[in-house]
Amino acid sequence: MKDANALITRLREMISAKGGNLYGGEQVTQAQHALQCAQFAEDAGATKPLIAAALLHDIGHLVEHDFESALERDEDRFHENLGDAFLRQWFGPDVTEPVRLHVASKRYLCATDPEYLSKLSAASVHSLRIQGGPMSAAEVAEFEANGNHRDAVQLRIWDDLGKDPAMKTASLDHFLDIVREVAEAA
Ligand code: FE
Repeated sequence: MKDANALITRLREMISAKGGNLYGGEQVTQAQHALQCAQFAEDAGATKPLIAAALLHDIGHLVEHDFESALERDEDRFHENLGDAFLRQWFGPDVTEPVRLHVASKRYLCATDPEYLSKLSAASVHSLRIQGGPMSAAEVAEFEANGNHRDAVQLRIWDDLGKDPAMKTASLDHFLDIVREVAEAA
């Protein structure tokens, strides 16, 4: 069993330090975005690990320093790798892989779902360019070979929806209880 108490304490600190920051170019804060994604997951009847992944998918944005300077340098695959490295301390691939692949999932959906690209927000279209544009056929095949790719794509769809300043969600405490349960079982 992992030290879930240490994780929950650290998450609360990170969310109170940076969770009030705006979610890049959107009308919601990082904390609202995280809660909305987790709420979509719960409403869809997702597994607890996937609800935890939805809540924590952008934790790389809260993992301190350098993110803004990285964006200025147009560095790719940054926040999802940071999030993956952070979450691996407590979780298995059912949580970490959807987080690691959530940006790749956007490139996957742009390549495989003709309607998807037309529905992206302006900020999301901008970041797609930085992220490398739609996947090639070879990249699509490689992506589909990952056993967690469906969860990652599902997380991506919630990620795109979690930008509504008026959406009501359950509390942070509610979702942190789920995170704790998943960490204790990992
Ligand atoms: Fe996100």
